[in-house]
Amino acid sequence: MKLAMVGFGQAGGKVVDKFLEYDKKHNSGIVRAAIAVNTAKADLMGLEHVPEEKRVLIGQSRVKGHGVGADNELGAEVAEEDIDEIQGAIDSVPVHEVDAFLIVAGLGGGTGSGGSPVLAKHLQRIYTEPVYGLGVLPGSDEGGIYTLNAARSFQTFVREVDNLLVFDNDAWRKTGESVQGGYDEINEEIVTRFGVLFGAGEIGQGGEVAESVVDSSEIINTLAGGGVSTIGYASETVETSSSNGGLLSRITGGDDDDDLDSAHTTNRITSLVRKAALGRLTLPCEIEGTERALLVLAGPPRHLNRKGIERGRKWIEEQTGSMEVRGGDYPITDSGRVASVVLLSGVTNVPRIKELQQVAIEAQDNIDDIRNESQDNLDDLINDDEDELESLF
Ligand code: GDP
Repeated sequence: MKLAMVGFGQAGGKVVDKFLEYDKKHNSGIVRAAIAVNTAKADLMGLEHVPEEKRVLIGQSRVKGHGVGADNELGAEVAEEDIDEIQGAIDSVPVHEVDAFLIVAGLGGGTGSGGSPVLAKHLQRIYTEPVYGLGVLPGSDEGGIYTLNAARSFQTFVREVDNLLVFDNDAWRKTGESVQGGYDEINEEIVTRFGVLFGAGEIGQGGEVAESVVDSSEIINTLAGGGVSTIGYASETVETSSSNGGLLSRITGGDDDDDLDSAHTTNRITSLVRKAALGRLTLPCEIEGTERALLVLAGPPRHLNRKGIERGRKWIEEQTGSMEVRGGDYPITDSGRVASVVLLSGVTNVPRIKELQQVAIEAQDNIDDIRNESQDNLDDLINDDEDELESLF
């Protein structure tokens, strides 16, 4: 599936940069165009793979290239004011060649948090291609303002996109690491999951004809209907094709070995599907009640089989209660791994979002209280008790 990606804000830019790196490394052909938008010049300059002419600095008249300082209302205003500059960069994208737009942003900050929903609304008005969001939730240790920003942005962003794919930094926090080092690893995890998912719709790799290749329309149909999505992933190393047809198969004879292999392959696939769905999701949630799902099995074709995928698909149907579970494979001839990606679309039982909203409401109340209090305290400080002094003017 070919995407036009827009990285909005620092996190968004870095993740899109990582997608470009992934695309080059795996030759997956998913990033048809990449744009980075920011109010902070330094963040744009720090990118490595997004072409310079595709980096758009907005809000210069308001913040002079210094960012909006985690003020997402300002982020939204600036995006609104400079939407033509963003559109200018999108004009150079061959939109007829893309299957969808993907806007990526950290929802806890200011620029991406406020700007992404504005851009989504704009793109929906102009283009017929679906507009998806990839929203990153802040860690719970980041503090009240980030949580409040994320809760408000989340609500708005979901409304403006065709589907919001969510990644929760909190569930992926690695203790004892520098924030930056931690983000590098987290971004790697994000890109691996989304890379396999979106890469699945880009067939033709290695010219392999597989049994039931996932098509980009299946990804689009799974995401259609809107709402919030989460992704599960599991992988296992497998022997590469050079070890195929080795001594064992020559001794035991081809057929027996094929049967054994096929049972083993089916079992491996079934267990990878379970691990992906029951392990750590990009947004942890209860999978029961999921509206639609897509199962992708990626790896060398001889390690994929229809029976395994069919069993995995049935199992997801049972676990989610959904009648709309699609499944297929993504053949990657030279890969040393078999990976299972489970896209759960239209999840509604998400305790993490409820918790985020609760903390956000508390933060909002506290911010109001503190503002009122500090105004009173300042009045107390600058005015004398008996009001005997007069201001100059
Ligand atoms: P903006 O530039 O104003 O849009 O804000 P940022 O993108 O810097 O930060 C928004 C939020 O994104 C932060 O609160 C973090 O939770 C998160 N974040 C920042 N950088 C990264 C990153 O490289 N990777 C991930 N996964 N999250 C990040």
